[in-house]
Amino acid sequence: MKSFRRELWFELDNRRGLVNITSQVQQALGESGIKEGLVLVNAMHITSSVFINDDESGLHNDFEVWLEKLAPEKPYSQYRHNGSENNADAHLKRTIMGREVVVAVTEGKLDFGPWEQIFYGEFDGKRRKRVLIKIIGE
Ligand code: ZN
Repeated sequence: MKSFRRELWFELDNRRGLVNITSQVQQALGESGIKEGLVLVNAMHITSSVFINDDESGLHNDFEVWLEKLAPEKPYSQYRHNGSENNADAHLKRTIMGREVVVAVTEGKLDFGPWEQIFYGEFDGKRRKRVLIKIIGE
C-alpha cells in the first residue's frame, strides 16, 4: 500500500469564506500515483471545515445566511467561550459544516457524484491555517 501526505495553507482576508479546493486535491492525487484507494481531506483547525457540496454562488450565500442564523457572530457576549478571543461562533459553524471528507479513488480519479466539489470553509480567518490531504491505496 502507498501513502501520500500534503498540507494546503490558507490565509483568507475575511473572517469567513469558502474556497473550492477540488483542483488542489486532484493535483495531490495525480502526484501520489495512487489509482485505487481513499483520499481524506480534513481541516487542521477547530474553527474551519472541509465539506463537499455544489460550487454555486447562491448556495454559498445561503450557507452564510443559514450559519449566521444558527450561530451568529455577534454579539460576542452571548457566548461563554468568548473573552480572550471572540470566535465561539466559528467553533459552532465548523462543527455544523464538518471536519473532513473522504472520497473514493477509482482509476486514478476522485470518484464523485454529480456536482460534488470539495470546499475549505473558513469561519475565523485573517490568519494562516491549513488542511491535510492524506491518500492511501495502490
Ligand atoms: Zn476559540
